Amino acid sequence: MEQVDLHVHTTASDGTLSPTQVVELAAELGLGAIAITDHDTVAGVEEAQAAGARLGVEVLAGMEISTQWRGREIHLLGYLLDTGSPALKPALEWTVRDRNARNERIAAMLQRDGYSVTMERIAAISGGGVIGRPHMAQALLEAGAVASVQEAFDRLLGEGCPYFLPRSYIPFSQAAELIRQAEGVAVLAHPLQYGFDPATLEEFVQGAAELGVDGLEVWYSGYTGEESRLLMALGRARGMIFTGGSDFHGTRKPNIHLGFGKGGLCVGKGAVEALRERKIAKFQKIFMKP
Ligand code: AMP
Ligand code: FE
Ligand code: FE
Ligand code: ZN
Repeated sequence: MEQVDLHVHTTASDGTLSPTQVVELAAELGLGAIAITDHDTVAGVEEAQAAGARLGVEVLAGMEISTQWRGREIHLLGYLLDTGSPALKPALEWTVRDRNARNERIAAMLQRDGYSVTMERIAAISGGGVIGRPHMAQALLEAGAVASVQEAFDRLLGEGCPYFLPRSYIPFSQAAELIRQAEGVAVLAHPLQYGFDPATLEEFVQGAAELGVDGLEVWYSGYTGEESRLLMALGRARGMIFTGGSDFHGTRKPNIHLGFGKGGLCVGKGAVEALRERKIAKFQKIFMKP
């Protein structure tokens, strides 16, 4: 069976491989399809699709929007969206402006306390994409302030640490609407990563379904068969589709491998078909307009 990976980051956000390199790796591994799902940007999609056409790997347009539900950071995946949609531009520009303002404030706080990290270096590490804390952690590692990226998060940048600043988020309902406006299919990313107890998880999935979220990412690096089945039961009761992916970030998450996650991940091509079918069903009314 041809395997796919529908959750992949590139240098357009916090991955360490360029869009072209990711597609080259997918081709080497024999993956049938991948989706590029960078944080709050579609900037890597075009390059990846060009490489995909050359190398015979199907590349789906995607994006992973950071949003909030009940005060918690939640990730919503958008698939098969029109990356040039005028609806996306203002929202993504707002996100990047907010991120950049926050990045500069964090860097200034670090500098004031004697850490030698500059925004120039952080931007260089990001490779020209969306800049975030992973790049700052890398800069701190380079500066010798920490022994690992993880230590930078544990001691300095993580929630509750002295240099943590919150970002602003597009509200959950608005993120779902944004994906709809861009003619995409919305899928809740890694639903078991938010620390919800079973009752809250069910409320979360129910709330998402009511907002028009189409699916759940039921296959994910490290999820057991039992966990995937639990998620499928929640989604099936609400007419949702199922997708899966590794959340590959290159060497930034060295234990997560493209296509195979922590080793046991196996997502079939049916997930791509499910996305396509859902897109047609969701936007049929638009297509059928005279
Ligand atoms: P940002 O979007 O700038 O807030 O950075 C969020 C990213 O930082 C996430 O996608 C994770 O990859 C990474 N991250 C967040 N918290 C931690 C943590 N405690 N340990 C390691 N990485 C983290
Ligand atoms: Fe990330
Ligand atoms: Fe995520
Ligand atoms: Zn991700």
